[in-house]
Amino acid sequence: MQQKAPTSRIDDTLLSQFRAIVGPAHAVVDPDQQMPYLREWRDTYFGVSPLVVRPGSVDEVSQVLALANANRLPVVPQAGNTGLVGGQIPSDANTEIVLSVERLNAVRAVDPAGGTLTVEAGMTLADCQTAADDVDRLFPLSLPSEGSCRIGGNIATNAGGVGVLAYGNARQLVMGLEVVLPDGRVLNDLNTLKKNNTGYDLKNLFIGSEGTLGVITAAVLRLFPKPAEKATAFVAIPRLDSAIDLLGKAQQLAGSNLTAFEFIPRIVLEFVTRHVSGARDPLAEIYPWYALIEISGPKPDGQAEQTMQTLLETAAEAGLILDGVVAGSIAQSRDLWKLREGISEAQKPEGRNIKHDVSVPIAAIPDFVSKVNAAVLNICPGARPLALGHFGDGNVHYNVVQPIDMDPKQFGALGPNISAAVYDVVAQFGGAISAEHGIGQMKTDVLAQTKDPVAFDLMRSIKMLLDPNGIMNPGKVLNNL
Ligand code: FAD
Repeated sequence: MQQKAPTSRIDDTLLSQFRAIVGPAHAVVDPDQQMPYLREWRDTYFGVSPLVVRPGSVDEVSQVLALANANRLPVVPQAGNTGLVGGQIPSDANTEIVLSVERLNAVRAVDPAGGTLTVEAGMTLADCQTAADDVDRLFPLSLPSEGSCRIGGNIATNAGGVGVLAYGNARQLVMGLEVVLPDGRVLNDLNTLKKNNTGYDLKNLFIGSEGTLGVITAAVLRLFPKPAEKATAFVAIPRLDSAIDLLGKAQQLAGSNLTAFEFIPRIVLEFVTRHVSGARDPLAEIYPWYALIEISGPKPDGQAEQTMQTLLETAAEAGLILDGVVAGSIAQSRDLWKLREGISEAQKPEGRNIKHDVSVPIAAIPDFVSKVNAAVLNICPGARPLALGHFGDGNVHYNVVQPIDMDPKQFGALGPNISAAVYDVVAQFGGAISAEHGIGQMKTDVLAQTKDPVAFDLMRSIKMLLDPNGIMNPGKVLNNL
């Protein structure tokens, strides 16, 4: 089955038709006004586009896609433009229009009793959290980019973040979706029912599809009771494999109230304290590895802190932790979280970074890290590998920072070899080449090489069924579609 490649360019007639749909102010052709939509914050991906459209309603999205489809014009959906794999950025061919959902930002319905919040795709994640909080509920998806990323983008990337351990990733937090299909039809799957066994679960096709199957315009989000208290601890551990038993103990003691378990190596703590304003090492001595642990409690009765104290005492007796501090106030808790959330910011001034977001079975993390470190240092002696992230989810952010005195360009040239070595070790441990950031344009080739061939074939068939003209985000996720 061969998919027809989109070839059309936009001419004045077509442009005026798009203008008529969204209004002239929202059919952006001026290069300066387009710039925020064509590059992302790290300047890793740039694109060129004849038109950025900002529809203000589902009906306008539908008309834009129908027109684009009729003219075989490729469309790149965009929400908050914080994606890290280039999925939201058009190519430099100047043939793809960008469709921003930022103007679709209404709360459509909230049902605290049923535990649902129905929002439009352009609402920022932070605004979704606030809308839940306004009815005394929790929407637990939480990422460092939450002030800028938008829920449509979170769903399209199946975003993870720090709440996955207790609440799951975006896929587990979405009950229903409204999606405009490439031909302009509107799929209304805004399910609010916990139990609904009426055929195929279509929403799951679009969650994590990174804009390649349609444009998500609204979603039903799952709400939870708000925890009444939280205890946060930052502990030093002697070896990375101590984290496995420490996590086991934390799960045993706190059960589903264990809401975060992150791991951080010493070198990363040094970067953060060096580059993030106000960040400081909370412990007096230097240790090789750290864990940031959060336990929540449904009632304000001090149970969370008590469980944390029990955990730390029993873990210290077992030699699993060497030192630690428990936040005594909300401000201290924020300071501890700053050590985790400031990591992206702190890596940039250290020079060029080659980043990988992978997952491996939790018990394999220590062996994975030592094996992949050896492979990377073999390719680039002096490189500074950083393994950190969501230990409790098996999600390792494996970033390699250039050697201190190396020319960034020379280091960048080693990137493909370094990444190939990382993905090779990931495969040896039965891991995944993307844990939470997605495939975008960054990992299409490695996906094609590593995905089960039957699964990959099915993905291509689904793409061709829903998007026979290949207009939706071409070249993303599937390398030649
Ligand atoms: P965009 O960047 O605009 O788009 C991302 C993808 O979704 C693109 O492929 C795009 O085409 C598609 N898309 C966007 N909107 C729609 C739509 N309405 N319909 C269909 N397709 C659409 N991610 C994590 O998972 N966990 C983290 O902890 C995390 N931390 C981050 C920290 C920082 C500092 C930054 C900058 C990013 C981080 N990210 C993280 C990555 C990013 O924030 C997430 O991938 C986020 O979900 C992207 O949302 P967005 O609104 O910015 O989407």
